[in-house]
Amino acid sequence: MSETVTVTIEMEQAWRYASGTAMERFSEGLKERRIEAVSCRLCGRAYLPPRPYCGKCNIRMSSWTPVKDEGELVAWTVMQLPMLDGRTGEMREAPYGMGLILLDGADTTLNHYLAESDPAKLAIGQRVRAVWCNERRGAMDDILHFEVIR
Ligand SMILES: [Zn+2]
Repeated sequence: MSETVTVTIEMEQAWRYASGTAMERFSEGLKERRIEAVSCRLCGRAYLPPRPYCGKCNIRMSSWTPVKDEGELVAWTVMQLPMLDGRTGEMREAPYGMGLILLDGADTTLNHYLAESDPAKLAIGQRVRAVWCNERRGAMDDILHFEVIR
């Protein structure tokens, strides 16, 4: 009869991400509190976050469209367990809200944190606005979260 052995190992894994040209421009804009989507010249779809190719037309995109830092909450959830925040590497304490946000001028949603974590105060269709960090570094967490404005 074999014996089960459990070995606990703590690992540290450095991870670097090459964002590519589309995300590079998007990230640079965040430093200036500017959000830009990339648009397809054939179908007109404005992608946010930007991506290099249109998924419908399969062509490379290079036309940029400014979008507002306000939009509509199209889906949301409230996380009840602490989770590792991939943007900071720190644990994010629960509860906290997450939303899919359709910013004005974009055709795809942005996934981001919500200021509100009370499910009774969240609803699909609410208007939300980005709350920016005072010091921005060109990363998605330059936006702290989105707050409900009405
Ligand atoms: Zn297209």
